[in-house]
Amino acid sequence: MSNVIAVGPYSDPDDAALREEFDARRLPGLDAIAEMPEAERATVTGVAFMGHEPFDGAVMDRLPALKAIANFGVGYDAIDIAAATARGIRVTNTPDVLNDDVADLAVAMWIAQARGFETAIRNARSGDWGRGVALPLARKASGRRVGILGLGRIGREIADRLAAFKCEIHYQSRSRKDTPAGWTYHADPVELARAVDDIIIAVVGGPETQGYVSAGVIGALGPDGVIVNISRGTVIDEEALIAALASGAIRGAALDVFRDEPRIDPRLIDLPNLLPLPHIGSATVETRAAMGALQRRNLRALLDGREPETPVN
Ligand code: NAP
Repeated sequence: MSNVIAVGPYSDPDDAALREEFDARRLPGLDAIAEMPEAERATVTGVAFMGHEPFDGAVMDRLPALKAIANFGVGYDAIDIAAATARGIRVTNTPDVLNDDVADLAVAMWIAQARGFETAIRNARSGDWGRGVALPLARKASGRRVGILGLGRIGREIADRLAAFKCEIHYQSRSRKDTPAGWTYHADPVELARAVDDIIIAVVGGPETQGYVSAGVIGALGPDGVIVNISRGTVIDEEALIAALASGAIRGAALDVFRDEPRIDPRLIDLPNLLPLPHIGSATVETRAAMGALQRRNLRALLDGREPETPVN
């Protein structure tokens, strides 16, 4: 019997690799751990984890020999890191290999929202175009003043792309970064929102950034503003966002992540100025393969007693 369990909706190649490299036992979710016989649970030393369900101390306590959690993804807000550290459990994630995909998606969402892709595609597919149904004019994306909230690994890739779109780049982070000349630093998110047309959110998720994009930040953006979020749904005060989109206090939003995903608040989904995507930031064949490979290298290192490539704790 393997001492590794793999939790989550892995692709077929990742599933095969987990079985081959670790003889991993597959579980659909963390709940299934409780149903494993106690003797079997006691042998588990490693978990390959993929998903967003809470991996808290209570779950860890069901696996008394656990020493490694290798997360599939850079965001590890679902895992209680303090609880893991207190139990001597090492946690790893998969940063950097997904930066390009997530940054590409953020910029694509920003353009798609400005240019009204959803309505335009419907016009073409439905035959409305052929019937002479005219579309309203969209808005220009290039050259806008864009604020990146969180100039980390992904935020920087987004900013670099927007610079090529002739945008004026502003950013907010807890510390000033080494950037190309002309990028403007803001210490406060409200100050950032006041200075820009649009905001793209790339901060970490988790309790520390819950509601970081507050009603105050959204209000400071103004009626021509657009919010793009590829980070975590919890970062935005979703009630304030719904109110702002519905009243026209901001022009629009493009969201890859939601507060209660995979459920989207029905009040949001009905709004014509929202462009929703089902959390597909890193969902390409190439990037998912790289994430899976890094997850398995990290898990192998931890189980062999070596330092992993990308540790969290
Ligand atoms: P990163 O390099 O760690 O950057 C995170 C940014 O968040 C940094 O700018 C950091 O600010 C800021 N930050 C961290 N803790 C903060 C706090 N307590 N208060 C305010 N700001 C804080 O992370 P990354 O690799 O760019 O990833 C960013 C996030 O994107 C991930 O955490 C994940 O949730 C999300 N993501 C989403 C997808 C998707 O499919 N949509 C895919 C990948 C990642 P400082 O610079 O001041 O430290």
